[in-house]
Amino acid sequence: MTASDQPVRVRFAPSPTGPLHIGGVRTALFNWLFARHSGGTFILRIEDTDRNRYVPESVQGITEGLRWLGLDWDEGPEVGGEYGPYVQSERLELYRKWADWLVEQDKAYRCYCTPKRLAALREEQKKRKQSFGYDRHCRYLTPEERQRLHEETGGQYVIRFKMPLEGQTVVHDLLRGEITFENAQLNDLVLLKSDGYPTYHLANVIDDHLMRVSHIMRAEEWISTAPIHKNLYDAFGWQMPQLVHLPIILNPSGKGKLSKRKAGFNQAGKRVPVLLDEFREAGYLPEAIVNFLINVGWSFGEDREVFSVQEAIERFDIQRINPAASIFPIEKLAWLNGIYIREMPDERLAALVKPILERAGYTVDDARLMQVIPLIKERMKTLNDVVAVGGFFFEWHFSPAPPNLLVPKDMTPAQTAEVLRAAVRVLGRLPNFQPETQERAMRNLAQKLKIKPGQLFSALRMATTARKATPPLFETMAVLGREACLERIRRSIRELEATNA
Ligand code: GLU
Repeated sequence: MTASDQPVRVRFAPSPTGPLHIGGVRTALFNWLFARHSGGTFILRIEDTDRNRYVPESVQGITEGLRWLGLDWDEGPEVGGEYGPYVQSERLELYRKWADWLVEQDKAYRCYCTPKRLAALREEQKKRKQSFGYDRHCRYLTPEERQRLHEETGGQYVIRFKMPLEGQTVVHDLLRGEITFENAQLNDLVLLKSDGYPTYHLANVIDDHLMRVSHIMRAEEWISTAPIHKNLYDAFGWQMPQLVHLPIILNPSGKGKLSKRKAGFNQAGKRVPVLLDEFREAGYLPEAIVNFLINVGWSFGEDREVFSVQEAIERFDIQRINPAASIFPIEKLAWLNGIYIREMPDERLAALVKPILERAGYTVDDARLMQVIPLIKERMKTLNDVVAVGGFFFEWHFSPAPPNLLVPKDMTPAQTAEVLRAAVRVLGRLPNFQPETQERAMRNLAQKLKIKPGQLFSALRMATTARKATPPLFETMAVLGREACLERIRRSIRELEATNA
């Protein structure tokens, strides 16, 4: 890293144009990790100057999403700070002032070209198969022409930057080294629009400078703007912050970039979520998402893929970021999430899954939920899995399984009914309903009836839960309680008897 005594100040600068994308979260996360590692400052800045794409509620989506993930910011909306406001639409005066300053310094100019002229120019360039660029018409106006146009348009103009016409611009990226751009490729881009709003470039450069940003860490997609910004910094006479472009995230299929707004796809062509809210709704935990995203482009080392955020903060180092494009390893997320679910205290897991069960229509009894959690923890990859693996514990109105499912392999309905009747007698007389007590008794019973324990267990499982797969049978029955189990078995027996009739 280039030596710099400057304190670390980094920013996440989303444009509130829609829901928070997982790629944006990765950018925020790396900035946050770097700030926390270096005892620096993490700034949240809302870049809302593109009024056509502005979606007001997305600001709240961004702040809520970051908070949910635990990515707290030291300066920004809601928390304030010395260099605010941190919402660009509240800083318009400032951008105008600096844009005017550039005009005064002859580093920018007023452009009076009408949308009509620009559209015609674009058509012309298209016809000639040239790439589109402003032809710098207004850069070369005489003072008289300028005055005339100003009057004619009633002062309607944009401010454009005077890009150097030749030579090269070199930027330095901490991961990629020097990158050289030909100035002839750069446009006289608009800095201030006719609606008085700055463009992204102007506002971004001014804010990074005024907010004393030390490192610009952002997605690789922005590399092409680096030479534009470098020229702006030079025009202002300011030093450009250090640049770190984070690797592109590819679709899990390896084909193409992880789409910005639409869903991505995996190799099997299955839809992969890309919005933070989608992950949240699918039952992923913030700590699993954070752990997962740290692995997208950065490596902890020692072959470790599972670590706490605290460990990642301690070890975070820009030089460990791999600049090569990285595939979005979506299948790792479910695996990681399962690990975090297993390690979580039962009380917390209970609190997280209760609303999910309720949304699925179950009436949840808290005491029972606390008994169920240890049984289902191991079997869950997402919080939403609770419905499939544990929902039946809260089915207070039981419907027995149909006879064909109640009958185990190599047994008849009559035999099954008989075996279950014997089980009811034994279970009803047990001194307690502990799983071990039940199991011992049921193994003895199987022996006595000369059937395999597996046959008895599967008949019991189906009779008490109406499903093939459940957490361990006797623990499940213990949670359901003796009365309920006996009642359920009796009802299942009646189903079997009905077939025999
Ligand atoms: N507002 C830009 C975005 O939406 C920020 C890019 C940058 O970090 O310079 O990503």
